[in-house]
Amino acid sequence: MTKPLRLLLYYADTGGGHRATAQALAEGLKHRYGNAVDPILFDGLRKYAPYPVSHLDDMYPWMSGMSKTWGRGWTQLNDPRVAMRFMKLWWPYVRTAAMRMAKEPCDAIINVQPLYTFPVLWAMERTGIRKPFVTMVSDLIVVHALWCDPTTDRFLVPTEVSRQHALDNRIPEEKIQVVGLPIRLTFMLPPQPKAIARRQLGLDDKFTILLMGGGQGLGRVYETAEAIGRSGLNVQLIVVAGRNKKLKEQLDATHWPITLKAYGFIQEIPTLMDAADVLITKAGPTTICEAFTRSLPIILSGYIPSQENENADYVIDQQAGILAEEPELIVATVREWLHNPDRLAQLSRNSGQLARPRAAIDAAEAAYEVATSRPIVYRAPQGEPLLARLDRFLGT
Ligand code: UDP
Repeated sequence: MTKPLRLLLYYADTGGGHRATAQALAEGLKHRYGNAVDPILFDGLRKYAPYPVSHLDDMYPWMSGMSKTWGRGWTQLNDPRVAMRFMKLWWPYVRTAAMRMAKEPCDAIINVQPLYTFPVLWAMERTGIRKPFVTMVSDLIVVHALWCDPTTDRFLVPTEVSRQHALDNRIPEEKIQVVGLPIRLTFMLPPQPKAIARRQLGLDDKFTILLMGGGQGLGRVYETAEAIGRSGLNVQLIVVAGRNKKLKEQLDATHWPITLKAYGFIQEIPTLMDAADVLITKAGPTTICEAFTRSLPIILSGYIPSQENENADYVIDQQAGILAEEPELIVATVREWLHNPDRLAQLSRNSGQLARPRAAIDAAEAAYEVATSRPIVYRAPQGEPLLARLDRFLGT
């Protein structure tokens, strides 16, 4: 029997999305290729980077925190030349980690975290161990320049719009493939009837709102729950605090005037979405794509500036939902939708039309093709070799 292909999926928990995409892709690989593949999820920063870089995931919630400064920094970096300069500054902090990641025994690397793309490719160049390298972009629309090292072997993107962004960031056209955003394979199954999902969750069979804030429970989740609770609307509420322990405690400590189920980080998001009529969430790409498979109308309660605002624009342009950043505006929107079932049904249809439930399988097929199509010939950039320039820059 031949050995299974060992495929490393590099992610970091800066937001829930990278891990969620990597997990979905790993699921897609197992589902499609069974014992022929051995996908391994790997948090390179946590495992190999020095402190405090190793704990970037802990800092991410307050760094991003939907603040304007984060948005400005993120936008400024989103230019191929600026991103390259930033990466050169970043390199000393991640050099050791990147070297070790490059040397990990495997048949291919699938990168699902923008902070790794340049360093791991540079490290492979430096060590002379050039493994097949696939980049899977885990944002829905924007393809940040930090993802975009043109020497990657395949560049997988979720949408046609993101394909254009990749081209703008100098990824060669023949390397780009639109596969959708990988989401858990359970989303490939048709949704359960709402009544059954609600019963499973111990809820009544009535209008249900699902309220989320991404993997980290970001945004004004508690205030929104409060506003819905005191609105007098005849609804019940499911609130997902994700990894935000404080929020979960706050939710648990409150006496709610309506039926409210609060969860911490929970795997059963498909069941929660099956039970819901409407989703309220920040504009996280994975949550949005999952909601499309359940034809859920979406109220976007906010977005991480620059990083997620184009996701919001996409949902609005496709008429699958609206942006309502104030809790009272969210309540007004739910009230309007409750009184206008035709509008709600239309939003639901529009949402369903954007679904791409097979994305994890399509991405898996693309990654497998790269992993098995050796040899990959690396062409050094024209002129002075990149790493020589870097070393000169670093004075090493
Ligand atoms: N998620 C989950 N359980 C939770 C909260 C969130 O499985 O309790 C998942 C959610 O279904 C989605 C991901 O975490 O797959 C969140 O990704 P998204 O891109 O929406 O936002 P991020 O957390 O990256 O900001």
